[in-house]
Amino acid sequence: MQKSLLRVGDKGDIEINWRCLREKCPQSCCGPFSDHLKVYAPLKKIKRDEIIVLKEEIERFKKNKMQAKLVKKDSDFYIKLNKKDRSCPFFKKGICSCYQIRPALCKAYPFYIDLFTGINIDSTCPGVGKGWTKLRDRHAFINALALVYLKHINDVTHIQTKK
Ligand code: SF4
Ligand code: SF4
Repeated sequence: MQKSLLRVGDKGDIEINWRCLREKCPQSCCGPFSDHLKVYAPLKKIKRDEIIVLKEEIERFKKNKMQAKLVKKDSDFYIKLNKKDRSCPFFKKGICSCYQIRPALCKAYPFYIDLFTGINIDSTCPGVGKGWTKLRDRHAFINALALVYLKHINDVTHIQTKK
């Protein structure tokens, strides 16, 4: 994460110069889904048009009868983005139709964990530079993202290339 985006606040909290603009945002983070999946692109098995749904998240999709929109690949489930415009099948009329149960990757946006540099922020998010937010206020989301990261690390270390 860029150092200039960080500061230590009055009460000792680490703060980031980012604030979600919510309904005033000129660019929705979902439709089409922004480029924050780029972090996983170098990992052979993970495509940039797939949002992974963690095992513990799948149950929530089942309970809400939304699992039909998930795609199974090997033993994992994904939300598959539209090939042409990269929009998400859950993005309806300008909002997320599964907002309460959306995957960790979505909850954490615009934060993501880079394989080599750690916590990063997608600099294309219009909220970057728009106000200071305590990182601890995003802690739960970043924590969830760390689970995704661990899963990918696990996947990558088990990849076998064909000879
Ligand atoms: S996270 Fe960024 S892109 Fe998404 S609504 Fe907030 S400001 Fe906009
Ligand atoms: S699941 Fe919801 S939050 Fe995630 S990309 Fe789709 S519409 Fe956006």
